[in-house]
Amino acid sequence: MNTQHSKELFKEAESHIVGGVNSPSRAFKGVCGGTPVFMEKGEGAYLYDVDGNAYIDYIGGYGPIITGHAHPHITKAITEAAQIGVLLGTPTALENQFAKKLKEAVPSLEKVRFVNSGTEAVMTTVRIARAYTGRDKIVKFAGSYHGHSDPVLVAAGSGPATLGSPDSAGVTSNTAKEVITVPFNDVERYREALETFGDDIAAVLVEPIVGNFGIVEPEPGFLEKVNEMTHDVGALVIYDEVISAFRFHYGAAQDILGVYPDLTAMGKIIGGGLPIGAYGGNVNIMEEIAPLGPAYQAGTMAGNPASMSAGIACLEVLEDKLLYDKLETLGKKLEDGLQKIAANAQVPIQINRKIGALTLFFTSQPVKNYDDADATNGTHFSTFFHSMLEQGIHLAPSKFEAWFLTSAHTEKDITTTLEAAETAFQAINK
Ligand code: PLP
Repeated sequence: MNTQHSKELFKEAESHIVGGVNSPSRAFKGVCGGTPVFMEKGEGAYLYDVDGNAYIDYIGGYGPIITGHAHPHITKAITEAAQIGVLLGTPTALENQFAKKLKEAVPSLEKVRFVNSGTEAVMTTVRIARAYTGRDKIVKFAGSYHGHSDPVLVAAGSGPATLGSPDSAGVTSNTAKEVITVPFNDVERYREALETFGDDIAAVLVEPIVGNFGIVEPEPGFLEKVNEMTHDVGALVIYDEVISAFRFHYGAAQDILGVYPDLTAMGKIIGGGLPIGAYGGNVNIMEEIAPLGPAYQAGTMAGNPASMSAGIACLEVLEDKLLYDKLETLGKKLEDGLQKIAANAQVPIQINRKIGALTLFFTSQPVKNYDDADATNGTHFSTFFHSMLEQGIHLAPSKFEAWFLTSAHTEKDITTTLEAAETAFQAINK
């Protein structure tokens, strides 16, 4: 495959943009190097690069694109919104319409607020929880990414119930001291953290179905226990549904799981591809936020007509239940096919899949938490990734990321992908 123009553009990008990319997840550091492909346009399940190559896309913009690229209904809504003025700086009826639609789909959202990114949504739920409880510490689960605000860029400490350490330069050790990180799906370690710090804990931050060290579902009873134990110490439960909301059905993961948080953060899919975040939950807790309460949060772009219109249009498309049935059918075909081909090639793999999202791990062991995901074979993933890319299959350049199907993918796309995977598994054995 000729990608000469991409290589030239990347070289140019490196001279203007730090690292040549505007988000580190787009760099190829996690796959033993290479040049990120510069895309010219997306249409349905496909991306087209600047050298004229076509790719079947499984990144889906890192999650937001679930109806395929440039979906006509969403594109029309964005175009119309641009014509009325992209930013009015006043409330608009679109905000009411979208808030109502979100609340109907996710009943735990008694009140909502729109922001511009998942990072902002999560960051604000943490602030509200601190304001509401009058406590400082938060608990999070190892390997879950909650955006790039300081309190959530904290890694686990040295022991099971120790305070965290900064996971990024520039995050202060004082910030890290307010965060306790425990393994996902481990009730005992969570209990230990609560026993040690219970009275100081404002909230626990949970991805109810993890998307950030691959797709990892909670063990039966885990989330129920987390809720019970958290409330017993007087702390709040925050669900980060930035990836999971509207990913698996029309609504949030909490409504499939039947376990409900006090506050929820959302983003990605709900913006139909435009920048967005939203948070919401119990009305008494939400009233901590300005202008009603003492906790501050604001945003020049928050609730802008284009993001609102794209979000409403995206949810209108997703209201068709058949869409999720299709994602399940395609997801199963992809999973079954990959399992079969890997077994034939004698490459040990595990696939964690939920509806149209899956992660292919190079390991023979089940993946239930971050340590399991971290222990999977990154060299095998890199070989597989580069072979797939060379064959026009666009995966995220990290062994921890999910493959996201869209409603624009077809059975034929899955067949083509599986044919490429056969070659990619063989490349691992060479
Ligand atoms: N929370 C989760 C679970 C995410 O996956 C992400 C981004 O990948 C974020 C929060 C941050 O969202 P954003 O990139 O829109 O700031």
